[in-house]
Amino acid sequence: MMTNLKPGPDVNRRITLAAHPNGLPVASDFHLVTEPVPRPGEGQVLLRTHFLSLDPYMRNLMDRIGPGYAPPVPLGGTMPGGTVSRVVDSRHPNYRPGDLVIANAGWQDYSVSDGNDLLAVADMARPSLALGALGMPGFTAHVGLLDIGQPKAGETVVVAAATGAVGAMVGQIAKLKGARVVGIAGGDYKCRQAVDDLGFDACVDRHAPLFGEQLAAACPAGVDVYFENVGGDVLSAVLPLLNSGARMPLCGFVAHYNDSAASSPGANQLPQFLAAILQKRVRVQGFIILDYYGERFDEFRREMGEWVNHGKVKAVEHVVHGLLNAPAALSDLLQGRHSGKVVVRLEA
Ligand code: NDP
Repeated sequence: MMTNLKPGPDVNRRITLAAHPNGLPVASDFHLVTEPVPRPGEGQVLLRTHFLSLDPYMRNLMDRIGPGYAPPVPLGGTMPGGTVSRVVDSRHPNYRPGDLVIANAGWQDYSVSDGNDLLAVADMARPSLALGALGMPGFTAHVGLLDIGQPKAGETVVVAAATGAVGAMVGQIAKLKGARVVGIAGGDYKCRQAVDDLGFDACVDRHAPLFGEQLAAACPAGVDVYFENVGGDVLSAVLPLLNSGARMPLCGFVAHYNDSAASSPGANQLPQFLAAILQKRVRVQGFIILDYYGERFDEFRREMGEWVNHGKVKAVEHVVHGLLNAPAALSDLLQGRHSGKVVVRLEA
């Protein structure tokens, strides 16, 4: 990490990509740059980052070849990320100093925007929720579960990474729709959290030696909706339990994001996957949440806002303090060390 300027009110710190990770990201994959705070040009605003969202997709963007739906971060490029930011200077007709916005400022203290990528947010008690339950992960859960999974009352919905940013929302929404909800999470603590705090009917520890048997026991009527967040061994355990006509919103496969050319390919699970999809007449649909903002975001914000305000949906967060802790926190997130939506609170 290189420091050109001492931290201060006139200094912007930003974290850039120094190297493409080989497996899990490590400290040397990142680089700290300090530079003068940028000035907004005509039609632009200067933003101060308050909260930075950390998300699994960031790992995909660190690879040499990107995931297809977004360009990879070039070496030396600022790490990307959604933020809750405050306008501190404005030369834009629609924004005034003090306005709170959702932005794509990335891993840095200050950023400049022309306003096109900003979403105004009303000042709220917990503005970080705009990056979690009321933001991208909550929206992903809402669209994936309701539009694609289409759970009916009494059906069984299974979701892995069950206490994570997306999974916790999937399970709680499915409960509101009358489904039986079974979570899969890493460890006893998270499983208790899914049942006791989030209201899941059951939750199975993916590290347990008898994980497959325990999952089958928790789903006596099979699985009607499997919200796919992880892939890997979890997917293999769910496949035999799928009911005929099951739906599988394919949201992500985080178990494989750190795979590298050197990783062992493991057993070829594709034939098992194809057989289950075919024989059980399963409808699998991948989706990228970016495609849905225009048509569906306002409706989601209204509905989820009411659920959160009335205590029907709980928003669990893990707050990391300080921009410089973001690299380690991303690595922790990818290893399942936290539950809830992971956000970094930047120094004021
Ligand atoms: P989470 O907050 O759930 O964090 C990731 C979790 O994945 C970890 O906490 C861990 O939970 C679990 N995990 C990590 N490694 C493994 C593994 N080897 N096997 C099984 N589980 C593992 O992340 P998000 O809620 O933000 O994202 C969940 C998924 O949704 C990701 O795949 C992400 O890429 C995807 N996503 C897709 C979007 C889209 O538009 N399609 C938009 C947003 C997210 P635990 O240890 O408890 O199992």
